[in-house]
Amino acid sequence: MQISEIGEFGLIKRVTLGAFSGPGVVEGIGDDTCVLDVDGSLQLLVTIDMLVEGSHFLRDKITPYQLGRKALAVNLSDIAAMGGQPKFFLVSIGVPSSSPVEYVDEVYRGMKDLANRWEVSLVGGDTVHSEIMVVDVTVLGLAAKDEILLRSGARPGDMILVTGHLGASAAGLELLLSSRGKDPGRDTSCRDAGSANPVSGYERYEERVLQAHLEPDPRIPEARVIARTGGATSMIDISDGLTSEINHICERSRVGARILADRIPIDEATLAVARSLGKDPLCWALNGGEDYELLFTVRPGAVDGIIKAVREATGTQVTAIGEIRPQEEGVSLVHPGGEVQRLEARGFNHFIAHS
Ligand code: ADP
Ligand code: MG
Repeated sequence: MQISEIGEFGLIKRVTLGAFSGPGVVEGIGDDTCVLDVDGSLQLLVTIDMLVEGSHFLRDKITPYQLGRKALAVNLSDIAAMGGQPKFFLVSIGVPSSSPVEYVDEVYRGMKDLANRWEVSLVGGDTVHSEIMVVDVTVLGLAAKDEILLRSGARPGDMILVTGHLGASAAGLELLLSSRGKDPGRDTSCRDAGSANPVSGYERYEERVLQAHLEPDPRIPEARVIARTGGATSMIDISDGLTSEINHICERSRVGARILADRIPIDEATLAVARSLGKDPLCWALNGGEDYELLFTVRPGAVDGIIKAVREATGTQVTAIGEIRPQEEGVSLVHPGGEVQRLEARGFNHFIAHS
């Protein structure tokens, strides 16, 4: 049998079946991070995510600074998705020996900038030769036992909420891969604001979606507020697209969901780039992925309080986009005209061909 026949998740299930799992494992494989009982009221969260050249990034489409930053950001996002606080990280790199040392310097500068910002300490890693560039980051975080938000806590009647907006990262990727994205790897974070050339309205939109793709910001403080406020029942970060993530929550919680298409927040930059490229922004929001926003469910009475608390503490917008339903109803998307579409997981899956 070929791996492509079972896909990424089928492979994970198959190879991890029967592995030893002792009493300290509160939550093992299957959530954004594992949850481990160490001692006392805090639990340890650990997550690992790898970025591979050719599979996750192309060297001429992302600066090494952005690559390092993103490798850490996607892992911080997984800790955030549990309601936790990231504390420590380890980095394994595979580098071709022909690579300039300065390339690796820049990868680490990107990681260190983000690590300083969130006060996450680099505590180890591994360095090997490899034909292609690989950056593999492990992050350890902590969370109070009673504040951890799993994928499995959603119940029928809960509302479905999302932070920020969706589809911008896919818009950025599309732009990078289109003929118009030939000069990217523009390192927007390093631009000297004072001396920058004036940019037009549309260029600013392009910059914004490129930044969403190349320099995602993990929603750490937003997640802490959501976890601390109470009222939230489950949470996941959007790495593979809304469709895929809502299906993960529904599978683990044994529930269904109904999402309203016209409630899905898509920002004006994404809409403008979609218009210009002749693409469907809703499709990006549903299946694009890499937005690293938080998708979470909330008891109906707590919705307004959580939206307000997140906005007041972080300035980030939170939008209610649907409702958790009984499992028999499945996962569906309701269009403004009333047409109901089944939402089957079609987000990114390694080993499965994408059209
Ligand atoms: P995420 O999208 O949040 O990064 P993944 O889809 O990569 O999560 O992984 C799903 C679950 O499977 C996680 O609990 C992860 O730790 C686990 N997992 C993934 N690959 C492996 C592997 N090769 N061996 C053991 N566990 C794995
Ligand atoms: Mg995740």
